[in-house]
Amino acid sequence: DRDAAVAQVQGLIRDIPDFPKPGIIFKDITPLLGDAEGFKTAVDLLAQDLQGPVTEYIVGTESRGFIFGAALAYRIGAGFIPVRKPGKLPSDVYACEYQLEYGTDALEVHRDALGQGARTLIVDDLLATGGTARATGDLLRRLGAEMLGYSFIIELGFLNAREHMTDAPVHSLIQY
Ligand code: AMP
Repeated sequence: DRDAAVAQVQGLIRDIPDFPKPGIIFKDITPLLGDAEGFKTAVDLLAQDLQGPVTEYIVGTESRGFIFGAALAYRIGAGFIPVRKPGKLPSDVYACEYQLEYGTDALEVHRDALGQGARTLIVDDLLATGGTARATGDLLRRLGAEMLGYSFIIELGFLNAREHMTDAPVHSLIQY
């Protein structure tokens, strides 16, 4: 059943304390990716949990959002749109800056990546502060896409990112 499937996925995510810096507990998904059944279960769960109108595009954020996003896109028969770190996309882009703990970072998407009103879901491995997801949402708004929601494998619920993501439904498989 669903609870057992979620538990299987959760059992394949490991905590690495103090990475990339002291005080951070890094949620390492590489054991999940390396487990054929577990990886399939995770993507199948994301697909099963989709609600509402048919998803035409999955937007995945570099770089772990590419892994789950591309697999989910294939699974549901949607297109895949990469949102990338600056300077990686070859054609004209929209860029969105967002705050990090120290300084800023930016994300880019091709201006012609999808059409006005395209039904689009944002996928990433993990929701922490939500800065990455909100920047990706801003890019989709500039493209004129219809935002169906945000989907994550893991949500760090204690950071309350959801409170600032009121533009579309937020879904996660596992909450800490
Ligand atoms: P944020 O923008 O704060 O929501 O951070 C989300 C991005 O940073 C995701 O793409 C994650 O892959 C990564 N990330 C943030 N915190 C962690 C963590 N504790 N463990 C693993 N990845 C993290």
